[in-house]
Amino acid sequence: MSLQVPAAPSKPRLLSACSDEELLDGDDSEDTLRLSPSATVKDDDSELGTVVMMGWLEKYSPQGVLGFQKRWVRLEVDYLRYFEKDKEVDSKGFICTASITHVNSVGDVKFEVVTNNRTFVFRADSEARKNSWVMALHDCVAGRHPQGTVSALPTADHQGYLDFRGFKGKVYVVVAADKVFLYKTQEDQRIGVGITYINMNVGNVKETDQRSFDLTTPYRLRPFSFVAESEQQREQWVEAMRGAIDAALSNCDVAEQIWAEPSNSRCADCGAAKPEWAAINLCVVVCSQCAGEHRGLGPSISKVRSLKMDKKVWTEELIQIFLLIGNERANTFWAQNVPPSEALSAASSSADRRSFISNKYRQGKYRNYHPLFGHQRELDSALCMNVQSSDLLETLSLIFCGADVHCSTQMATWDSPLALAAAHSQSLQAELIGLNLNTELPRLDVGGASDPVHYSAPPCVSHNGFLFKTASVSRAVAERKAREEFTRRWCSLNDGCFSYYESDKSSAPNGTMKSSEIVCVAVNPPDKHGYEHTFELYSESKRLYLFGTDEADSHRSWVKSIAKSFIPPWAEPLLSLDFERIGRLKCKDGLNLQTSRVGWFALVGSTLHAHLAPGQQEELHLRRLSELSIQRDNEVIVLVKKGRTLYIEGERKLDFAGWCSAIEVAGRSGEDTLTEQQLTEDDVPVTVHSCISYITQCGLTSEGIYRKSGVNSRVAALDERFRRDARSLCLRDGENQVDDVSNTLKRFFRDLKDGGLFTQDKTFWLSTTGIQDEGQKISQYRQLLCRLPPVHKATLQALIHHLHCVQCFSERNQMQSHALAIVFGPTLFQTDGQDYSAGRAIEDLIEHYTHIFQVDEQRLKRDLEEIKYIIKLRDSLNTKFPASEPGGHFLCTVYLNEKTDEAEGSIKIPGAMTAAELCSAFLNHKLIPVKEEEFWSCWEVSDKEETERPLHYRERPLPLVHSSGTNAYLIVKNHLVMRDMVRYLADKKDVSKSGSLSFKPERNILGLDLSSFDDRYFILNSSSLRMFKDVLSNSPEREWPAKNLQVYLGIKKRLHPPTCWGLTVVCERKKHGRADRQQCYLCCTSRTEMIEWFASFYSVQNDGDVWPKEGLQRAVCPGPADLRLGNVSLIPLRGSANEMRNSVAAFSPEALAVSEVTNPGSQSGGQEGDGARLPARLIGSEMFTRVQDVSTSCRSEHLCSIIQLWSHLDVIVGF
Ligand SMILES: [Zn+2]
Repeated sequence: MSLQVPAAPSKPRLLSACSDEELLDGDDSEDTLRLSPSATVKDDDSELGTVVMMGWLEKYSPQGVLGFQKRWVRLEVDYLRYFEKDKEVDSKGFICTASITHVNSVGDVKFEVVTNNRTFVFRADSEARKNSWVMALHDCVAGRHPQGTVSALPTADHQGYLDFRGFKGKVYVVVAADKVFLYKTQEDQRIGVGITYINMNVGNVKETDQRSFDLTTPYRLRPFSFVAESEQQREQWVEAMRGAIDAALSNCDVAEQIWAEPSNSRCADCGAAKPEWAAINLCVVVCSQCAGEHRGLGPSISKVRSLKMDKKVWTEELIQIFLLIGNERANTFWAQNVPPSEALSAASSSADRRSFISNKYRQGKYRNYHPLFGHQRELDSALCMNVQSSDLLETLSLIFCGADVHCSTQMATWDSPLALAAAHSQSLQAELIGLNLNTELPRLDVGGASDPVHYSAPPCVSHNGFLFKTASVSRAVAERKAREEFTRRWCSLNDGCFSYYESDKSSAPNGTMKSSEIVCVAVNPPDKHGYEHTFELYSESKRLYLFGTDEADSHRSWVKSIAKSFIPPWAEPLLSLDFERIGRLKCKDGLNLQTSRVGWFALVGSTLHAHLAPGQQEELHLRRLSELSIQRDNEVIVLVKKGRTLYIEGERKLDFAGWCSAIEVAGRSGEDTLTEQQLTEDDVPVTVHSCISYITQCGLTSEGIYRKSGVNSRVAALDERFRRDARSLCLRDGENQVDDVSNTLKRFFRDLKDGGLFTQDKTFWLSTTGIQDEGQKISQYRQLLCRLPPVHKATLQALIHHLHCVQCFSERNQMQSHALAIVFGPTLFQTDGQDYSAGRAIEDLIEHYTHIFQVDEQRLKRDLEEIKYIIKLRDSLNTKFPASEPGGHFLCTVYLNEKTDEAEGSIKIPGAMTAAELCSAFLNHKLIPVKEEEFWSCWEVSDKEETERPLHYRERPLPLVHSSGTNAYLIVKNHLVMRDMVRYLADKKDVSKSGSLSFKPERNILGLDLSSFDDRYFILNSSSLRMFKDVLSNSPEREWPAKNLQVYLGIKKRLHPPTCWGLTVVCERKKHGRADRQQCYLCCTSRTEMIEWFASFYSVQNDGDVWPKEGLQRAVCPGPADLRLGNVSLIPLRGSANEMRNSVAAFSPEALAVSEVTNPGSQSGGQEGDGARLPARLIGSEMFTRVQDVSTSCRSEHLCSIIQLWSHLDVIVGF
């Protein structure tokens, strides 16, 4: 067994001391030590604090004479020690981790620990255990080596050979600080391989003879008995060892003194108990593991000292500083803004420690910024003032926020802050400044190779060989590179570096890159370039290196080796994949949108494998996501899978662009086979799902549905759109025609490759039609159905379900199953339609749908009832609002310029009418000509809220009219705001906007309005609006999805906005499963600023399309009206679910009554009860969210949303 750092060390030490066997071979039995209960026994917790890992291993004996021997092995930060038994205190041997040069996995469960002179072989009992040992050793070694300068090994106070009673010959003894080390030889001491060491805090020394003396410890029955060469030498030894005891005891005192401040008894970084180290210039007390990472930062950043060993450092002043500041207060500066996800615990991995400590002190990422940050003169003079006082924390804050400790005080006598402090008898201030005279200040912009954040020591990988290489470039390689453009290079991957040389004889590389700087490896398809096999290597410094070879094996092993060299061990499963692209990307997901982290990704076919954290891995099937949007400009890829969202952020343009293209291609439908389509979660191609949903919504009453042909050009266009990206295409009532869609669906099936829907089994299906016995026939169909691949099966069922529903309404659409079968038989079986066998098969499937597909009849019945309800709702809307035209219109009041009786006009608003059309129609009606450079637009105005906003020209005003009730009305006006917005946006290159605004949240739930307008810093980009405490904050206080926001000009005066240029922002989104409506207010300092913000929102929400390019008039030319589709459903989309319900109820009471009957068994959407009469599933918060989901791209898609909403409801289409 092996243990990671023990939480509660076992304490059977004293007991074991009594049964302790001799550690060294010996026969001395007389000279036993009587342990008195009051012996200098100390709890050894402190020592265990340095243990990284321990457990049983087998160790290969030195010359192999004894083979493998069982040893209890304990890895401490500074030493790897092995014991005969797990309870022993004195080891058989130890190796200083500082002298370990390599740790290698060898053989199955063995690993070697290599020092300069010796190799130790250990064997674990499993591969996993071996790996954890190797990793732990790597970490220890890596943590120690980077800077090389700082060694925890104290220098020797006294050393030499001594006769050791009971041991064959002499031992080399070293007294250093508070320990006594035993080595076999002096050479062993030099190379860091010894027998054991004694912590002198438990030691006792006494002379026993002229030349001999004993060192006793409570853990041993017998003392260590030494014989010196002379009495004089013995005296020197005894003095040195007593010195070590003093050191051990007095050092304990430093620690005890420091820990007297309670917060110092916990590591400032990870919280581990009894930390024995300190970063003296940073004023934090840390544990040994964190101290290791501090050392890694280098002494110019962190000066690490031991509380126990470096006794000379701990002056009275320094101790006082640590007592006065203390970890807790120090962290109010250093760790003011630590996101919970980044915080360390005592059990954190060394990789996490490394990144956290680097973030905290090297970058100062979590600092509490001094108010004067960035103002050098002010900082300097504040420092000069402050050092005359006793406020040490302020000095710390000033220094690490940029105040110059060497600045001029403008005083001749005391020309530096140090002198000034001394002159004012502030010796602690002077000490603190003195410690930081050469400190490297935190730099947030530390990035690139020196940023170890993403990097945890990978296993050692080495690989050599010739490759062909082109010159590195800083852009994607689109063109084919001929063989002549490649040069032969000797390449070598070693010691965490990838280098290429002129030849295998060259000693100096032509170029070299640390593995940690490689961010991505992409494998090109064969024959993309002159060499058959090529791969691209992307570096942190945004360079792309192209390598090629003709040998597939060499190519593969290079790709794997390079990938292995930069992938952290926990993401290594990715290496076993046959990836096209592998690398790291910044990402964040639903649980933590504030902070992004580094994830490791590999793309294989249409699957993206992601390792987001140790133990957190997942596969994202790019063709099955509910959303895949690639926003190159914002450098974000958004992946939505079953409601969970993963954002991938572009950190470096070059490799991110590569990922974008690869993911985009991978997420598209592939060949014309069913399985390579973009699929829904139910395995149905998105194209089929969209078409069926649309027909269910809009086409079930359409006469001759599926028989009539659509307009060829439109069908071709739809087909093309679906092929390009089916997921992004939203079929809209009013925009798409029923017959176009129905024909697109037929075309989809007809064009399928690989035998289409029935695969190669077509003939079996067709021959089944001939079976006379009905039962036999059905069972044959069932068998055939089971033989279909899952996607084919799901698709067939979805389609037949749909056709079954269509023929249920044949009274209206005139399409009985026979008629449908005539159409679909040849289409699905891809036959010429000469004979009816294909049709008969489809007719069988429709007729015997419930039996062949073993459908739950209750469920089918419910689905049909819901469809009836939809039809009835549509019908009732048509009759309730009769119109002269078949489309069905509403008569609405619209005002010209302002709300007065004279300006009033009534206008018919068909559901499909856009704001631009309304505007144009209204102006025509009022006989107002539209001139060039006029920005007539339709505005939604609310007197109650004192807000207004221009509708987007493509937005449909009708739902607004219904949802706003008496609160709002429509005004058509030629408003300057619109003109100024268009002008502002015309010059704006970037969609995003940032700046300070006065912010006020909506009053809380109790109606208490305690908040006032406060300054906040906002950043708007195409995906979100983020709010920060101030410009320097790293993580946003709040974040809103940009497209869920509805922004209005104006703020209620009652709220006392600081200026009259304000915006009211409404955000509706799902929160804890419920629709949540928030309202807040943003106030600007000038009209210009307000216009700019408003325009930015407007632009973001409409994807930059804010004003019709050809002008208002052109935007209103409606296409040929489809008379069947003039109507729209009337569920308004704003307001709560309640409002929606009421609003719907108001329109069609009879239709709603139907649903009461139809929906007895469905699960309730929540909060109903007061006679909700829509099916719960239609109006619950669930549905509301759907609306939010699909309407994200544009407000004007409201109507489409309704359709989409319905089509999303599985209850209707019934998959
Ligand atoms: Zn710690």
